[in-house]
Amino acid sequence: MAYDFDLYVIGAGSGGVRSARFAAGFGAKVAVAESRYLGGTCVNVGCVPKKLLVYGAHFAEDFEQAQGFGWTLGDASFDWPTLIANKDREIHRLNGIYRNLLVNSGVTLHEGHAKLIDPHQVEVNGQRYTAKHILIATGGWPQIPDIPGREHAISSNEAFFLKELPKRVLVVGGGYIAVEFAGIFHGLGADTTLLYRGELFLRGFDGAVRKHLQEELTKRGMNLQFNSDIKRIDKQADGSLSVTLKDGRELVADCVFYATGRRPMLDNLGLENTGVKLDERGFVEVDEQYQSAEPSILAIGDVIGRVQLTPVALAEGMAVARRLFKPEQYRPVDYRMIPTAVFSLPNIGTVGLTEEQAREEGHEVQIFESRFRPMKLTLTECQERTLMKLVVDAKTDKVLGCHMVGPDAGEIVQGLAIALKAGATKRDFDETIGVHPTAAEEFVTMRTPVGA
Ligand code: FAD
Ligand code: NDP
Repeated sequence: MAYDFDLYVIGAGSGGVRSARFAAGFGAKVAVAESRYLGGTCVNVGCVPKKLLVYGAHFAEDFEQAQGFGWTLGDASFDWPTLIANKDREIHRLNGIYRNLLVNSGVTLHEGHAKLIDPHQVEVNGQRYTAKHILIATGGWPQIPDIPGREHAISSNEAFFLKELPKRVLVVGGGYIAVEFAGIFHGLGADTTLLYRGELFLRGFDGAVRKHLQEELTKRGMNLQFNSDIKRIDKQADGSLSVTLKDGRELVADCVFYATGRRPMLDNLGLENTGVKLDERGFVEVDEQYQSAEPSILAIGDVIGRVQLTPVALAEGMAVARRLFKPEQYRPVDYRMIPTAVFSLPNIGTVGLTEEQAREEGHEVQIFESRFRPMKLTLTECQERTLMKLVVDAKTDKVLGCHMVGPDAGEIVQGLAIALKAGATKRDFDETIGVHPTAAEEFVTMRTPVGA
């Protein structure tokens, strides 16, 4: 049968665009449907605008610290609408770049919601298109628990477009988004409380990293409320929100921001017209080559719920394009040693196993840790400390994990990830000459294991 397209991609986000462009580059006839915004979550309501807001928030500290270096500044003031308008302009520019990327690589773009009609057919804006392969790359969507007053809460989707900076913000959750946005609101001057249901936020990160960030945020005056969860939210006559916690306490805020995870975006996708199956968490179930239970349909990125990070969606998109249209270049995605950063203030950077994971996996571990005051802060009043930690296998000397909390942790850990992927040992780290004076050199100068 002749199809309209070799590949029809639903969703022009990180994974979809990568897959479409490379498939077209390999000679396939490709179309992409996008219902909302070119570039997807990362470009519009994720990584990019978030990082811009984090930069904005960091200036508060820079101004304070500048005084130690002899600078006298006038009264600094911050204007949220200016930051948001400038951010919107930059995102608009990126949307145009994504459009050009697709069109210039020969991909047909359909702007509208795509629905599956059968295993080889998609409908967009009332038109039907057939394709040999269909790729679901529809991403995720914020998930807010169903509590009374839920309609008064916002998610990251709305936070990027608030008309003004709320005076009192309650951030709910203890994952990436909660910690990052709490830092943004706090840095920009909002009275910020982070509410997390467990003992300590950032479950799954190294214990020392979690504790260190807790201490640093507390030092900065952020209100951290652990073992706390919301029962209901009520709007007051003056527009503020009265928040009742499960333990009976009441808090008042102008904005309640939920960051309690993301569900797969499958709304009105027409999966019922196909044999695609979902896993027990509701994400699209795929095999190791991203094929769903319906042989002509594949899925990648946040919608399969493996590792919800842009570079992972990109790698999966690339793997699908190669497998379908350039099989001789196909390489499976390697999910080990994925580096990641949390753009909290201060940042977290991490790659490899945490100490807890290494012990659970049966490694006999040696831990190297360094805590120090960054050189830049020595002329300032700021008491911030940096943490660096190496988890090493005592038998093989292999470095199993690197963890950092401190300025530029994300930048530093990218290079370390290459070393770990290449199987570097602690001896390799020790024999590497440092770059002086930097914070990063500490990773190659830690000599004595903790407790030795
Ligand atoms: P998406 O990028 O979500 O793209 C899916 C696209 O499909 C969307 O454009 C959507 O409109 C479209 N779509 C959905 N349904 C349909 C349909 N039926 N028809 C047509 N189009 C449809 N990751 C990092 O690596 N680093 C970060 O710093 C980072 N920060 C983040 C901050 C926030 C606030 C959030 C929410 C996420 C962040 N992420 C970050 C995660 C990252 O954004 C996602 O992992 C990544 O965007 C997933 O890419 P994707 O291609 O799977 O989906
Ligand atoms: P996460 O899965 O990271 O965190 C969700 C948090 O919400 C957890 O602390 C979880 O608690 C808590 N939670 C879940 N359900 C409830 C509930 N019903 N009531 C109260 N608390 C609840 O999700 P995020 O929304 O923060 O981010 C989604 C994903 O996006 C991330 O996992 C990450 O992959 C990606 N991302 C990456 C970024 C980066 O690379 N810098 C930045 C932002 C997002 P518990 O731990 O107890 O389950």
